[in-house]
Amino acid sequence: MTTPLPAPHSGEPYLLTPGPLTTSRAVKEAMLRDWGSWDGDFRAMTAEMRARLLALLGTGAEGYDCVPLQGSGSYVVEAMLGSFVPRDGHVLVLCNGAYGKRAVETLRYLGRACSVIDKGDYLPPRGPEVTAALAADPAITHVLAVHCETSSGILNPLQEIADATAAAGRKLLVDSMSAFGAVPLEPSVTPFQAMVSSANKCIEGVPGFGFVIAETPALEAAAGNSPSLSLDVHAQWATLQRTGQWRFTPPTHVVAAFLEALRAHEAEGGVAARGARYLANRQTLVAGMRGLGFVTLLQDAWLSPIITTFFCPADPRFGFDGFYDRMKARGFILYPGKLTRAESFRIGHIGQVDAGVMQAVVDNVAEVLDEMGVQSAAPSAADLAERQTEAA
Ligand SMILES: *Cc1c(COP(=O)(O)O)cnc(C)c1O
Repeated sequence: MTTPLPAPHSGEPYLLTPGPLTTSRAVKEAMLRDWGSWDGDFRAMTAEMRARLLALLGTGAEGYDCVPLQGSGSYVVEAMLGSFVPRDGHVLVLCNGAYGKRAVETLRYLGRACSVIDKGDYLPPRGPEVTAALAADPAITHVLAVHCETSSGILNPLQEIADATAAAGRKLLVDSMSAFGAVPLEPSVTPFQAMVSSANKCIEGVPGFGFVIAETPALEAAAGNSPSLSLDVHAQWATLQRTGQWRFTPPTHVVAAFLEALRAHEAEGGVAARGARYLANRQTLVAGMRGLGFVTLLQDAWLSPIITTFFCPADPRFGFDGFYDRMKARGFILYPGKLTRAESFRIGHIGQVDAGVMQAVVDNVAEVLDEMGVQSAAPSAADLAERQTEAA
């Protein structure tokens, strides 16, 4: 017998992935009507959304403005890099996973100069390393940090990176895609020039657009920088300021769903409450999985409230594909690993899930291991040894 899914998602599998993720029924129902993109009702929705997103910043938000942009998260990362880094700019990318690597590739497409601090799969870039790199190369104008590197789940130490960048008089750009809304990013504490996130992560909307939040003077100064028409953040901002409309067809239904998600975010208690629920999710999940013998890729200090990576069991009866299919049949969609060396898989703990759902995940994992005849969830000695070396 499989453990029944907790209400209210009977039958529909939980997406334990970092976006798209499990959304509420109210968010889905908000999409059951049509809006004209030029109409006053939709312009009011866009204005409310921009104001609500800015309010999530907390103190220091007065100097910033919010610009939504069509596309998935990568589109807004590309738009931010192309719009705020001038043609003769130079970006230091702090890389420790797939999204840092994608930023480096994006800069190559954009023809912007780029240096990289690459920490491999799962070590954090540290403040002193940023200080040294900026001191060594006065040509660097910007630092790009990935807030939560979703490929390992690491929560990077953004505060010390922001401090090091500000002390060196350079500008900080943040990919806060999978953190914004659940991890604080307050300009008075953590100064940044621009950040990006998207509709389908910690705010718990559906996919279809991203948004840039940037210092207003930087938005003004970005005119003429972008090598792309549709990804020009300045042009999108200028049109929104002038007309209240997006430049090209907006994802109207996605915006309606997102507004509903923002209202629910506020009702839950804002960034602090959202982050607390996700943290409780992780604690239940990690404690339960460790109880079954699984080992997390990361040391506790770097675990995020967003998503956790586990090593695959070394037991030869374990195979991720079979494990995945059995978990899916029980109502849980897991996420494959994205590491270059070790065999791993990930479980996201964001979206409309709580500690009860996480406990159900653990209970079902235990039953599935049993079905598969897996005796021990412990990883291989080689994986464990690598984890020890990396931690040293
Ligand atoms: C999700 C995500 C992105 C964007 O990915 P898309 O697939 O383009 O939405 C970028 N950076 C991080 C850290 C992410 O988690």
